[in-house]
Amino acid sequence: MLKGKTALVTGSTSGIGLGMAKSLARQGANIVLNGFGDVDGPRSQVEASGVKVEYHGADMSKPGEIEDMMKFAASRFGRVDILVNNAGIQHVAPVEDFPPEKWDAIIAINLSSAFHASRLALPAMKAANWGRIINVASVHGLVGSVQKSAYVAAKHGLVGLTKVTALENAITGVTCNAICPGWVLTPLVQKQVDARALANGCSNEEATRQLLGEKEPSMQFTTPDELGELAVFFCSPAANNVRGVAWNMDGGWVAQ
Ligand code: NAD
Repeated sequence: MLKGKTALVTGSTSGIGLGMAKSLARQGANIVLNGFGDVDGPRSQVEASGVKVEYHGADMSKPGEIEDMMKFAASRFGRVDILVNNAGIQHVAPVEDFPPEKWDAIIAINLSSAFHASRLALPAMKAANWGRIINVASVHGLVGSVQKSAYVAAKHGLVGLTKVTALENAITGVTCNAICPGWVLTPLVQKQVDARALANGCSNEEATRQLLGEKEPSMQFTTPDELGELAVFFCSPAANNVRGVAWNMDGGWVAQ
């Protein structure tokens, strides 16, 4: 379905971004990977679908590096047809103890990077009259949780950016939508499970049960593959008129 298209997925060396990249590659899209850590493992998982894969290591907190990455993608593949703004980090602390530098980093990586990548991707998408911008927000783009001020502020901002981007392009073939996962067992969440196990003196299994039990009625993690398939739907012709939605995949978290 996506043969001949190019998808750039930020933060795709791990977790949800890697799941998105693999799902889009299974549909035939060439992929630009981005993110820190091991690149060869993720690259070979995506290449298994027989598509072309490139990597750019831009630090998404740095607008100049984002600009380099967008130029790099255009030079390798002509243009970016599908942009998945996924890179993100977390830090937990009450507002009065929240380190200002962590606030700045979370706003830069989880929110401002999506603005920069989108503003740089849109001209070519509009010229082609086809494009998909998919912002990986969170249930925390829709509701709050204690100790996550920067993350919740960034994700609410990302849902707002999604709506405006969708509206500004509503009469074009370019759509913008957000995906709002509940708990997904990635390194980002495993750190929160580990912190809980340490604080409560309990096992990993008990900490996981507590984490899910507080928020997620299904008592199940959503998987990166399931989220990747929602991204594929947003890229399909059936989603041509899906514009500006914030679609939660959260085991019932936000239904409560
Ligand atoms: P993860 O830690 O597994 O992956 C994060 C990715 O972002 C990695 O590839 C990492 O290298 C990259 N990254 C981090 N900082 C970066 C930077 N400055 N520049 C470039 N890349 C950077 O986390 P994840 O759980 O897969 O999270 C991915 C996205 O999904 C995030 O935006 C997160 O907020 C969101 N999300 C996660 C969950 C969850 O439960 N895991 C729930 C809702 C939303």
